[in-house]
Amino acid sequence: MSYQEKFRLHGERAVVTGGGRAIGLCCVEALAEAGAAIVVIERGEADAQEALALRNRGYEIELRIGDVTDSARMEAIATELADDGRPATILVNNAGIGQSGIPSQDVTDADWLRMMDVNINGVFWCSRAFGRHMVAARRGAIVNLGSMSGIICNRPQPQTPYNVSKAAVHHLTRSMAAEWAEYGVRVNAVAPTYIETPMGRMGTPEEVASAVLFLASGAASLMTGTIVNVDGGFTCW
Ligand code: NDP
Repeated sequence: MSYQEKFRLHGERAVVTGGGRAIGLCCVEALAEAGAAIVVIERGEADAQEALALRNRGYEIELRIGDVTDSARMEAIATELADDGRPATILVNNAGIGQSGIPSQDVTDADWLRMMDVNINGVFWCSRAFGRHMVAARRGAIVNLGSMSGIICNRPQPQTPYNVSKAAVHHLTRSMAAEWAEYGVRVNAVAPTYIETPMGRMGTPEEVASAVLFLASGAASLMTGTIVNVDGGFTCW
């Protein structure tokens, strides 16, 4: 197989949570362009219009309404995809929330719990639901959206809940990778920056999606349990 062919995703079915905008939307575009059929999970139909408009390019893009914190709904979507004979073979756990600027002493229980619910529970519920079918099929690739904030602590703004949630995503990535390696299911994460980088500019959603495409593809066949920094060198210091 040529190197270029390893990036092709024809015959794959990729679920992208929060695929309606920003990084998620670029992941949808990147994976669809590589040939995958896409299932976007969004909380509302309005959120998914830009992703669905990519059908104009001949891409297969479907929408399933759901909230990643609703584990029963994620299980139902995963079962529905498997029942129509095409279980998800790629999962991009992109849906996530951020909050910064609140000192730890002022973080409310609700702030903390909501952050963990979306950023950690959501990633686990989806990985478990869609990963179950990958384990059964003995193939699959999961790519999680971590963050450089799961590696370093940003300054000057305090954002302990977010940082902790992304550090957990990174270790969830390694833990599930270790567990599912024997089933041929790879689990990796990207850790993007979101502020100015030492390269002197902001990162773009497209640059994150390129790394997601690589990790989802056969080109990354020996990579699992890896956290790929997409940060312009920010975490070198
Ligand atoms: P956005 O907030 O722009 O988009 C997130 C998407 O996820 C939205 O479509 C949102 O839909 C959806 N979403 C949020 N919560 C849920 C939920 N509970 N269930 C289903 N869908 C949900 O995020 P970004 O594109 O900026 O970030 C994407 C990921 O990348 C996140 O995990 C983030 O933490 C991570 N990241 C982002 C960085 C950045 O600088 N942007 C840097 C590092 C990491 P809705 O409209 O319903 O909220």
